[in-house]
Amino acid sequence: MHVVFPGSFDPPTYGHLNIIERCTAMFSRIDVVIADNKNKASLFSVDERFHILKEIVSVYENVRIFIWDSLIVKFLTKHNAHVLVRGVRSASDYEYEFMLAQLNRGLGKNKVETLFIPTDQKYFVLRSSVIKEIVMLGGDVSDKVPKVVVHALQKKFTTIRNGEGM
Ligand code: ADP
Repeated sequence: MHVVFPGSFDPPTYGHLNIIERCTAMFSRIDVVIADNKNKASLFSVDERFHILKEIVSVYENVRIFIWDSLIVKFLTKHNAHVLVRGVRSASDYEYEFMLAQLNRGLGKNKVETLFIPTDQKYFVLRSSVIKEIVMLGGDVSDKVPKVVVHALQKKFTTIRNGEGM
């Protein structure tokens, strides 16, 4: 089965990677789609996120990375896919994801299904916003994100501190 895993991935964490890895064991093709949302401020540009994700998933033959700036249902139509995957960390995540699933089902003319994958307990507190906060305050996130992300975060915050902008 072909599934699509959309998100911001700003930056990718071991929580995201865990969902991707578990998908590779279940599905024949996984398209990871980075949302290029111009209305949402992000730390990393979509191109930076693309390169980071590409490096992280290079070990999996059936994972591909895309950038998409429109409705996710349009991506599904273009790629002839019908199934979205979303990771769920908590009851509040579920409430939000349940609403999104209904919306996407409607937008996809009842042909779009959303599969929820519960997070591994090791990663249930991981979210990209928290990672950024910890690094900004000088904390260590090496057990929370892949090495390539640690380096990218350090580089990004050094640039910001030196006033070179984002
Ligand atoms: P966030 O900013 O919430 O980390 P993203 O938009 O990048 O989120 O999330 C993309 C998808 O990955 C969503 O389905 C989200 O629930 C899931 N996800 C994010 N972090 C985790 C985690 N630690 N465990 C499982 N799923 C996660």
